[in-house]
Amino acid sequence: MSRILRIAVDGPSGAGKSTVARQVAKALGIDYIDTGAMYRAVAYKMIREGISAEDRDALKEMLAHTEIDVSGCDTLLDGENISGKIRTPEIAKMASDASAVPEVREKLVAIQRELGRSKSVIMDGRDIGTNVFPDAEYKFFLTASVPERARRRWLELRTKGQDISLETVASDIEKRDYNDSHRALNPLRKAEDAVEVDSTEMGQDQVAEYILDVVKNEKTE
Ligand code: C5P
Repeated sequence: MSRILRIAVDGPSGAGKSTVARQVAKALGIDYIDTGAMYRAVAYKMIREGISAEDRDALKEMLAHTEIDVSGCDTLLDGENISGKIRTPEIAKMASDASAVPEVREKLVAIQRELGRSKSVIMDGRDIGTNVFPDAEYKFFLTASVPERARRRWLELRTKGQDISLETVASDIEKRDYNDSHRALNPLRKAEDAVEVDSTEMGQDQVAEYILDVVKNEKTE
């Protein structure tokens, strides 16, 4: 009998989680869920509405009227496709601030759990193996050195036409690592039973193959 398979891929910014998770999802024929895109969607709306992470009442009110859907290829915010608008340093920073707010995490974690309730998924984020699915069948913790992660992010931003220095990207990554691993609620950390993969010297294909090797004998539905 085939069973539901939940694969958690956590790790710091720029470790290559989304590319690898997307590849694994395709190979296994299961859904890929980008939870970072959900925090970015909240951040996008906060910026658009001029709401800061400190303004908890306004944020709560905003969340009560916010619908986020990342179950397809795109990120939908209240029905609008915002996929092309959320990969900026400004949104990344606001997403990191927003992710420390309990009401934001509560809402997004509930959506994430629901997405993995009845079908197989590979989900990437910061707290999937520790908090969203502590009983996930497979957990991976993907890392890479700061210079390598900064180089990858810088190339990605440059490809999208953003003019930003490598030093700025590296310092943003360090700040975000600090914020994400020091917040009180569900901080970024490796689950005890997660397999750590350091991708500093590995190509994304190699990492995806490694994950597939670990998972390959599983049947999914
Ligand atoms: O992965 P990505 O860079 O798109 O995530 C943006 C931000 O969202 C992260 O820096 C982190 O603060 C937050 N996040 C989180 N928990 C997750 C996924 C993302 O707190 N599961």
